[in-house]
Amino acid sequence: MKKFKAESKKLLDLVVNSIYTNREIFLRELISNASDAIDKRKFMSLTDASLDADFCIEIKTDESKRTITITDNGVGMTETELENNLGVIAASGTEAFKKERAKVDGKSDGELIGQFGVGFYSAFMVADNVTVISRKVGEKTAHKWESDGAAGFEVTECERDEAGTTVILHAKPDDEENYSQYLDIQFIKTLVKKYSDYIRYPIRAELPKRNGGDVEVSEMTVLNSMTPVWKKQKKELGERELEDFYLHTYHDYRDPIMHISARIEGAVEYTALLFVPSEPSYDYFTKDYKRGLSLYCNGVLIMDKCAELIPEYLGFVRGVVDTPDLNLNISRETLQHDRRLRAIATGLEKKILSEFAKLLKNDRDKYDKLFVSFAKALKFGAYDNYGENKDKLKDLLLYYSDKEKKHITFKEYVDALGEDKTAPILYACGETVDKISMLPQLELSRDNGRDVLYFTDVVDEFVARMLDGYDGHKFENIASSKKNENSDNSDEQNALLKRIGDKLKDKVSVCATDKLKSYPVCLAAKGEVSLEMERVMAAMGGAIKAERVLQVNLDHPVISSLDALSGEAFDDTVTVLYNEALLAEGYKTEPEFLPALNRLLAVNGGAHRDADAVKTAKATKTTSKSAKTAKPNAKDDGADEK
Ligand code: ADP
Repeated sequence: MKKFKAESKKLLDLVVNSIYTNREIFLRELISNASDAIDKRKFMSLTDASLDADFCIEIKTDESKRTITITDNGVGMTETELENNLGVIAASGTEAFKKERAKVDGKSDGELIGQFGVGFYSAFMVADNVTVISRKVGEKTAHKWESDGAAGFEVTECERDEAGTTVILHAKPDDEENYSQYLDIQFIKTLVKKYSDYIRYPIRAELPKRNGGDVEVSEMTVLNSMTPVWKKQKKELGERELEDFYLHTYHDYRDPIMHISARIEGAVEYTALLFVPSEPSYDYFTKDYKRGLSLYCNGVLIMDKCAELIPEYLGFVRGVVDTPDLNLNISRETLQHDRRLRAIATGLEKKILSEFAKLLKNDRDKYDKLFVSFAKALKFGAYDNYGENKDKLKDLLLYYSDKEKKHITFKEYVDALGEDKTAPILYACGETVDKISMLPQLELSRDNGRDVLYFTDVVDEFVARMLDGYDGHKFENIASSKKNENSDNSDEQNALLKRIGDKLKDKVSVCATDKLKSYPVCLAAKGEVSLEMERVMAAMGGAIKAERVLQVNLDHPVISSLDALSGEAFDDTVTVLYNEALLAEGYKTEPEFLPALNRLLAVNGGAHRDADAVKTAKATKTTSKSAKTAKPNAKDDGADEK
């Protein structure tokens, strides 16, 4: 007896003990495994005719033995494959489950599990024992895998006449759930119609048939229509059928945001059925993710994930392409350079982008959702390959607007500028909408009634550089410093800026700004590299540094009173101000920050107490204790020190 892997065991327990009501989906899971296995063998038979067969899936039930048997003549599995494939729950299912588990509270595991394609393991939702007999194509021996779904499984050698797989489920005894219904072949027929009608291979079963008189005979009947969903005419297709196809083909549990179908007749003929998932799959942003559409030639699967059919930035789109124009015996390598394939890819890219544009125009909420899910991919598309696709994508990008408090397009931003044909498109960078909305620099743009776009993705600023403006309007980072901001200052002001600059000379340069209102200082960058870009480069291991500038609001009371300070009081105040600017930009503070802050607080606390003490001194002559802790040069109000 071999044990299930720990991870699978946990999930398996959930499946078995699930209070999940939709147990019937076990059938579509097993049928789709059978269909995949036949796909694989059919593909092999293209180059090895001896593997060809009358491909089909057969279902039998036996009420007295309480068994449901599903047989296919697909590729089959070797002993090792039985152990490896059926010993762990499909990684995709487990990952998705864990992710969702982390997100949703309050839902029981049982409710959740039902939404996942746990594939083969769903058999244990209805069976207390599962036997799989399989023989791999090209192998002489067959093997039997058996499990009660509890602790583990056993694999032994056995007989099977031909290559293929037989899955035998022993139905659980009825309790509050009626498991016996799955032994009724008529019920099985309705389930096949409901979930597996599109399967391209015949799903056969012996169905009783009344024959003239009262004698009951049975007849082998094909239960499914076998028309692939994408071959069906629009009018025979329900939205639900499309969504169901998506859900179980791509093991997703959330309906897609949209589907796109295309039927092209021209130089290259093809049918495509594409889906945009509601969220990126769990591995989308990892290097394990393989993009691609399934490529069929007249209903025969040629390639599962043909990456050449879809540009990288649309890698999240899933679906199938069926074309009669390809040679079935073509090798993968040759296929990748096929001219017709490229023509299809170009057509699909155009079609997808035009459907996105339509959605943006006609169903903004839905497009917003789509964009939020795949913003990174689309923005990356606009930036990648030296901006090769930027013009196709620039009107599909959305940014959070400071004024509108929702996502808007560049076009909407520019339209709102009205007659001003040269005003810049202002933007601010930061990690999140919340953090950006608190940037000190925003006060002025808000006062002036200017909108600011929030750049929350690392790639945003690079995209802006790549676009180099929109419709004649340049992009401007509200945090970048303008060159001659010191020109209008008085001599005293310049002297103060110089004093601050001297104190911070190894860290930042210092200049005045008129962008701030209630904040005394903020951090900015001058030159080509912004603070955000510096951060991105650092994350990628680069060492390109932004030229940091501390922008000073000369009208702020903290700054005007700074002139009167000297010595440690001045130094500490400047240190605190500089660290305030660091904090506002989301940086860590310096080690000297807290000691400086504490000294200032002590002085300030002391000053307050001193002031109180003065009031009461006449009556109760007391000595201010705080004077002992406060620095001698700051015993009184700092402003009096000179
Ligand atoms: P998934 O189908 O999502 O990969 P499953 O748990 O349903 O996950 O199946 C695990 C693996 O077992 C499959 O990927 C396949 O390799 C193998 N398998 C399952 N059923 C069959 C079958 N009828 N014939 C051949 N291989 C199968």
